[in-house]
Amino acid sequence: MRFEQWCEHETPAMTESTAVTHPIPDRHGQNLYTADAELQRLLQLYLADDLRRHMAPHFERLGGLAGGLLDELAGIADHHPPELESRTRTGLDVQRIVKHPAYVEMERLALSEFAMGSISHRDETFGWRGKMPPAVKYVLFYLFVQAEFGLCCPVSMTDSLTRTLKKFGDPALVARYLPRLVSLDFDELAQGAMFMTEQAAGSDIAATTTLARRGTGDHWLLTGDKWFCSNPDADFAMVLARVEGGPPGLKGVSLFLLPRRLDDGSLNHYRIVHLKDKMGTRSMASGEIRLEGAVAYLVGEQGRGFVQMADMVNNSRLSNGVRAAGLMRRAVAEAEYIAAERLAFGKRLIDMPLMQRQLDKLRVPAEQARTMVFQTARALQRADAGEDGAYALLRILTPLIKFRACRDARKVTGDAMEVRGGCGYIEEWSDPRLVRDAHLGSIWEGTSNIVALDVVRAIQREGSLPVLRAHLEALLADPAVTAVPAAFARALRETFDRAAALAETAAQAGGEVLARQAASALYHCTSAAAMAWEAARTDSADRMRWAQLALLHRALPRDPLSPDVLPAAWQDAPAAVAA
Ligand SMILES: Cc1cc2nc3c(=O)[nH]c(=O)nc-3n(C[C@H](O)[C@H](O)[C@H](O)COP(=O)(O)OP(=O)(O)OC[C@H]3O[C@@H](n4cnc5c(N)ncnc54)[C@H](O)[C@@H]3O)c2cc1C
Repeated sequence: MRFEQWCEHETPAMTESTAVTHPIPDRHGQNLYTADAELQRLLQLYLADDLRRHMAPHFERLGGLAGGLLDELAGIADHHPPELESRTRTGLDVQRIVKHPAYVEMERLALSEFAMGSISHRDETFGWRGKMPPAVKYVLFYLFVQAEFGLCCPVSMTDSLTRTLKKFGDPALVARYLPRLVSLDFDELAQGAMFMTEQAAGSDIAATTTLARRGTGDHWLLTGDKWFCSNPDADFAMVLARVEGGPPGLKGVSLFLLPRRLDDGSLNHYRIVHLKDKMGTRSMASGEIRLEGAVAYLVGEQGRGFVQMADMVNNSRLSNGVRAAGLMRRAVAEAEYIAAERLAFGKRLIDMPLMQRQLDKLRVPAEQARTMVFQTARALQRADAGEDGAYALLRILTPLIKFRACRDARKVTGDAMEVRGGCGYIEEWSDPRLVRDAHLGSIWEGTSNIVALDVVRAIQREGSLPVLRAHLEALLADPAVTAVPAAFARALRETFDRAAALAETAAQAGGEVLARQAASALYHCTSAAAMAWEAARTDSADRMRWAQLALLHRALPRDPLSPDVLPAAWQDAPAAVAA
């Protein structure tokens, strides 16, 4: 169906006869915000009352879109990937990425209507005076990504590029480019990208070979090849390059801002030479770029490119964790819906004990990730406000969520697909797209190994482990928390001690082989403790049970030959009484 036809097309009402012959439950049309009671409960904890009330109608609108129109647009864009046009029909060499109108409409929703790329940098958004806390931005991403994953990369890069430019850029450079980066006018606003990876320099940034030579004036000229560039026709990109004649290794790498167009409106001197044929994120273009003396501006200090870029990458890693949490939420909610509606053997799937257990196994990692999103968002807010210890906490929570939530999303989306039965494997449903997209989270912005090693680096360089321990203690000692069973709180503390000891070993010379194991253990203990805190504060028995399952199934040793039921003692007296 062509896009224009699709716009006018309405899903026909299901008649009784089609319902009987095609009894496949379809959740399409459900509002992903109002249907998510747990999210609304959590927002009472993580957002101030006035802000939560102010944002509720916006969350509700986005939830409605994500469960309907946005989901349809995402499906269309996934099947109509962007194409690279290098010449006009009149023979002019003008490069253009031709995006499907469905993708462009999603861009408008994300960047203009919902301000997702600029909300953290604006003084007023949605009629709310003052800066929005990161939690608001991440709720928008959490809802949006349940429909569309690919576009979230450019949107997040726009946000991260703006943050890095503001933090390190020369004030004149910031003043020149910021207005377009924070604009909500769709015809005017600018998008961001980051071009780091080269053929021989992916994880190993020190191997960067792109060269920067001084131009005449305030700019530099970049030459070289960038091998993976998502959103390659973005208005601005942050690029890593090696200043000619500089020292070898990381100390020779600097950060540059690369505009797509020069001051006279002509295209800057770089070409998109190829678009990748990707397994997932098919709606969004990722390409290869050849820099041919491209005009760029130094950002921050020469030779500090890697350190400054790390700020941008960390912001994107956190966003990746949020996206993984959103993908899992979508997968779980679909599975729960199907289980409640689909009949087999004369029963609803949800009434079958083995299905109930499988659903719990999907819910636990999805809820852990959701908790870690809010915990990390809060740490980011406190770190940006300069609160003591908050940066060290953020430095470890960010790679923890990027590592574990992105890995969990692969499994959860795959296992949720099975709940839909054969239809889960069919491209008309959301499941295959979720599975394909979920696999990318663990690869880009640092592979699992690299991000697990970053957990170790946070322990070595930022002293993050004692800060994480203090954070966990503070959660369990919250005077408002009276409902965490004492034996469970004890198990949380004891397991964290063991996880921390493992992480300390991983941080010692020769210990890096333990990095992934330690990162998983820290993630499970931290998320279980935070979920217990949330459960107690929101009086949620379900959340307490998921917290307990997270510890029992994911952190503690298990005997595969015995039934793994929750220890009876974990249901007993509250910790606040027994501590
Ligand atoms: C769809 C897509 C879009 C992308 N978009 C962008 C973009 O917009 N901008 C950008 O700059 N990049 C982008 N990337 C690149 C991405 O970030 C890199 O592919 C990724 O960082 C890995 O680098 P690499 O491919 O060179 O793999 P390598 O670095 O060669 O890694 C190969 C394997 O070796 C492992 N490894 C490497 N070092 C170590 C170590 N010290 N210890 C243990 N194991 C190690 C890795 O974990 C990995 O499993 C994109 C990638 C994809 C797939």
